[in-house]
Amino acid sequence: MQVLKQFRKSMRRDRQFGFMWSLEDLDLDLSHGVVLYVENLRVGFDGFKAIDDLDLYVDAGELRCLIGPNGAGKTTLMDIITGRTRPDCGSVFFGMEIDLLRLSESEIARVGIGRKFQQPTVFEHHLVYENLELAMAVDKRVFPTLFARLSGEQRDRIDEVLGIVGLEAQAYRAAGSLSHGQKQWLEIGMLLMQDPYLLLVDEPVTGMTHQEMERTAELLTSLAGRHSLLVVEHDMDFVRSIARRVTVLHQGRVLAEGTMDQIQEDPRVVEVYLGE
Ligand code: ADP
Ligand code: MG
Repeated sequence: MQVLKQFRKSMRRDRQFGFMWSLEDLDLDLSHGVVLYVENLRVGFDGFKAIDDLDLYVDAGELRCLIGPNGAGKTTLMDIITGRTRPDCGSVFFGMEIDLLRLSESEIARVGIGRKFQQPTVFEHHLVYENLELAMAVDKRVFPTLFARLSGEQRDRIDEVLGIVGLEAQAYRAAGSLSHGQKQWLEIGMLLMQDPYLLLVDEPVTGMTHQEMERTAELLTSLAGRHSLLVVEHDMDFVRSIARRVTVLHQGRVLAEGTMDQIQEDPRVVEVYLGE
């Protein structure tokens, strides 16, 4: 009996964790210094080309800004990278080896790609600290131990992330009592609990005060290096304050790429976007 129980237990564990181990076998190969390769990407919705032969490369540790008029395909591109939308053709690789088009949405999150949506989705009734704890639990390897005691290492990571997002003083407040900006930072902190290699951030400063925007600019620029970031934002003052390389999307294609100065002087960009 005892043996049978043990056997069943191990079967269950295999079913839960077997494929995750194989996921971890996937190595993020950054030997060419590029974390994201998007090539010949196309996706149409009822004949409308939302992404039309798009190529985009993001370097490891880079902070890339993605701008462009409404409907240019920015969010659709993030949907494809995170496995929410499947393209009609093209390829999307994470490092040299990991073919993202073969992975599910949750597998993509687990190989190290985090996405921040526009609306913060924190657990309002939980403390800030607990929100970070729960974010750790998304990682199924941590989940079984979560309701036991946190390890020293896990506590250290929570404290470290509280520091990075500047919410140490709010750690024991309910997340629902935070300002809009603080909630956005908390959500970024929740993503950081997974220590993703690549962070996709869609319109982070919408609805923020000027001061909160400045703080967000500092936060995102401080994350570059250890992480790579792809940031979509409409607020041009904000983009200017964080931008190194900027990609302008228009009708599902790359219209221009360069520094903020190069972009702003590009007549095609002025015509379709900045001149609006
Ligand atoms: P952006 O984020 O640059 O404003 P989007 O990627 O949201 O642009 O949208 C690009 C175009 O694709 C838009 O015209 C939008 O209406 C369309 N689109 C996006 N997702 C879908 C979908 N799931 N079904 C139909 N059309 C879509
Ligand atoms: Mg969008």
